[in-house]
Amino acid sequence: KRTPFIAGNWKMNLDHLQSIAFVQKLAWSLADAKHDYADAEVAVFPPFTDLRSVQTLIAADSLPLAYGAQDLSAHDSGAYTGEVSGAFLAALDCAYVIIGHSERRTYHHETDAIVNAKVLAAQRHGLVPVVCVGETAEDLERFGASAVPVAQLRTALEGVDGAKGLVVAYEPVWAIGSGQAATPEQAEKVAAALREVIAEVLGDDVAQATRILYGGSVKAANIASFLREPNVDGALVGGASLDIDEFSSIARFK
Ligand code: 13P
Repeated sequence: KRTPFIAGNWKMNLDHLQSIAFVQKLAWSLADAKHDYADAEVAVFPPFTDLRSVQTLIAADSLPLAYGAQDLSAHDSGAYTGEVSGAFLAALDCAYVIIGHSERRTYHHETDAIVNAKVLAAQRHGLVPVVCVGETAEDLERFGASAVPVAQLRTALEGVDGAKGLVVAYEPVWAIGSGQAATPEQAEKVAAALREVIAEVLGDDVAQATRILYGGSVKAANIASFLREPNVDGALVGGASLDIDEFSSIARFK
């Protein structure tokens, strides 16, 4: 049985001081609501500059929240100005790292090959990659929903060690920040196709153990409908993860 995973991608929001207040209040909100973390793991993905603060707070108060970064370098160290090594994220006790978000693919020209190199880098440093895939509106029209995400995932998984764990996030680009989420049926169809890719590349056991998230305009009002689908194991939440009550409700599928 896969533990549902509710992940908040803050994108470029909240500085290191704001992150401390936010994470503290989020933990309080979930405690007030008697959230059982066995029902859903909850993780936040702040900007790099917040991670040390978030680590310190979570460790000092023993908060049951997980956290990770929004990106990492494909390289381990050296002359790569502006890049952040997975080694540094591991040293900050990050459990996860988001890789291949559509905003990275679009604005920073990350190809499937770069995404694959970053997935391997994450695994080298003991970080669980949250591999993002998804089609644009144009892809959807030309190829249907599954073809592009399936191809992206196949390349992303080359050389991956299934035993080290991974999370996959299906985020249709047209649903991100648009207020127009995919239907649960659409999400299920692609999630099932992605699980088949994992089975092909990494075997059935890994496929059954891997959590596949849906992302794109997830809110408290629609989360339960996605979680009812057999192949959707959680959500990668953008805008709504910046509202404490809303995100706390999403974590409880309410
Ligand atoms: P929204 O939830 O704002 O649509 O963003 C989704 C996303 O990109 C999460 O990574």
